[in-house]
Order: sequence, then structure tokens, then C-alpha cells
Amino acid sequence: MVIDENRLFSEEEKMPLYEYECQNCKKIFTEVLTLKEHERGEMACPSCGSKEVRQLISPFIAHTASKT
Ligand SMILES: [Zn+2]
Repeated sequence: MVIDENRLFSEEEKMPLYEYECQNCKKIFTEVLTLKEHERGEMACPSCGSKEVRQLISPFIAHTASKT
């Protein structure tokens, strides 16, 4: 069975994907940024435009889960 999402993932893994939560409207959004863009840290919520955003741990670049 072919899953379309696999194609998206394979394209996005070429660039770091950052996940943010807006502290104003609580919207969670993801951005693909270069390292320079990320270091600049000028991220604004695409929904409300607030710059009060908090970076989350992206599941797409998470390390292998520790064994239990
Ligand atoms: Zn917002």
C-alpha cells in the first residue's frame, strides 16, 4: 500500500524542520529553516502574527527512543 505522506517526508528530511507553538493563540506550526534563519530566531505565528512563539521538539528529527 502506497502512502502519499512518505513522499513528503523524504523531501522534507533534506532540511531541518522546526516545530513551534504560538504562545498567543496556541497554534502549533512547523517551519523548514536554514541554520541562519533559525539562529536569527525571528519566527512569527502564521495564524496571528505574534512573535511569542516557543520551539518544540520536532518528532521528525528526534533521536531514537531509548529502550524500555
Ligand atoms: Zn498565533
